[in-house]
Amino acid sequence: MAGTLQVVEPATEEVLEEIPRAGAEDVDAAVARARAAFPAWRAVAPADRARLLHRLADALGERLEELAVLEARNAGKPIADARGEMGMVVDTFRYYAATPERLLGDTIPVAGGLGFTVREPLGVVGLITPWNFPLAIASWKLAPALAAGNTVVLKPAELTPLTALRFSAIALETGIPEGVVNVVAGPGSVCGQRLVEHPDVAKVAFTGSTEVGRSIAAAAARTIKRVTLELGGKSANVVFADADLEQAAAAAPGAVFGNAGQDCCARSRILVERSAMDSFMAALEDSIDALKVGDPLDETTAMGPLISAGQRESVASFVPDDAPVAIRGNAPDGPGFWFAPTVLCPVAPTDRAATEEIFGPVATVTPFRDEDEAIRLANDTIYGLSGSVWTRNGARALRMARAIESGNLSLNSNSSVRVTTPFGGFKQSGYGRELGPHALDHYTEVKTVFYATEE
Ligand code: NDP
Repeated sequence: MAGTLQVVEPATEEVLEEIPRAGAEDVDAAVARARAAFPAWRAVAPADRARLLHRLADALGERLEELAVLEARNAGKPIADARGEMGMVVDTFRYYAATPERLLGDTIPVAGGLGFTVREPLGVVGLITPWNFPLAIASWKLAPALAAGNTVVLKPAELTPLTALRFSAIALETGIPEGVVNVVAGPGSVCGQRLVEHPDVAKVAFTGSTEVGRSIAAAAARTIKRVTLELGGKSANVVFADADLEQAAAAAPGAVFGNAGQDCCARSRILVERSAMDSFMAALEDSIDALKVGDPLDETTAMGPLISAGQRESVASFVPDDAPVAIRGNAPDGPGFWFAPTVLCPVAPTDRAATEEIFGPVATVTPFRDEDEAIRLANDTIYGLSGSVWTRNGARALRMARAIESGNLSLNSNSSVRVTTPFGGFKQSGYGRELGPHALDHYTEVKTVFYATEE
């Protein structure tokens, strides 16, 4: 072991738990356990694997409140949000519990025999996850990986390892065999890197920053490891003058200040048709005034603290003293990594606040002239994860949906993620898709079998 890891509660700055910190040798041991468990796990009959995953979903549902409180305290997120996320974890396992019996192949007409395909598991899969939605994002990887017959080594972010550790204990209790689910809580530069380099790891599924994603893709190339990357975003929230402005303004704060802005789908670039600017900004101010920032365990809290002092410093760098602060919400004083929700306006599209992922509660508002300019501004980014368009003109809504370069796009809504639909990025927001039926493609290989029928 490489010492002790102190897990801090962001709302109080106090130590929540101390746990052993894993090192490279722990990763090697976890990979060896996962490798040893693989042959038996892939051989579990599909209906039995399905039953085990349903039982796991049941157990997670029974422990939902305990997991939600732990996640709320460790990640600093409002308890209502944490409950929603744990509900999604249960639903994700439930959804993929249905899939072991539905991993279908094809039969393909060929000369001299029968050609058919089967979906084989990859083997040991490494999962590297971030601190913003710790167990939810882990479940998007764990559930399809396990359903397809892989064994896993999960490396949660050092800042938020607690729910992942509880998860592995629950998995064992519900009958998932020893060695199938392994968790190593240690630093990314050591444990994450070792997972990426390890020759016995067949694939790495990563969610985090574009910078680390780039280094993972490069390192994985050495062993031709399969990689899926869910990276950063700088999503646009495009509001046309013909939209329901009250509704768009009421929804906008949740879309960028939810999870204190620490969300890869955060709609942090609000683009508003020039003629609607004044009425939109007035309605936005009212919505932000009503946003309650405070104790994550308070049922009425809408936004908690940032994850760490470092993250607060990074977010603050986007709001220098001369920044054009148009709206500033409230935030508690005293201990905790607090940052008030902030709207900058007007902001030039080239400004750092409008081009870089802030990952905190700071939004920029930029006016646009017409549809063409809205499309140009929305796409003027290295990212392409998510986004929204608000308009009552149906044809325009569909034109915009096709024109915006992002993996997910919402019309008159800001929701991005559903268990049953694929989620992932265009451009430097990554590649591969999580959730929905598509995720299984990334945890299986297609094998083609030819059976000669001629004597
Ligand atoms: P990182 O990308 O550094 O962390 C994500 C995960 O990768 C963590 O588990 C981390 O481990 C691990 N990791 C770090 N370095 C390596 C490495 N060399 N090899 C393998 N794994 C590694 O994100 P940060 O926490 O540093 O956040 C920085 C910024 O990234 C944020 O401000 C935000 O802009 C973006 N981000 C985007 C997320 C998204 O959902 N798309 C999620 C999180 C961050 P550990 O932290 O334990 O060292």
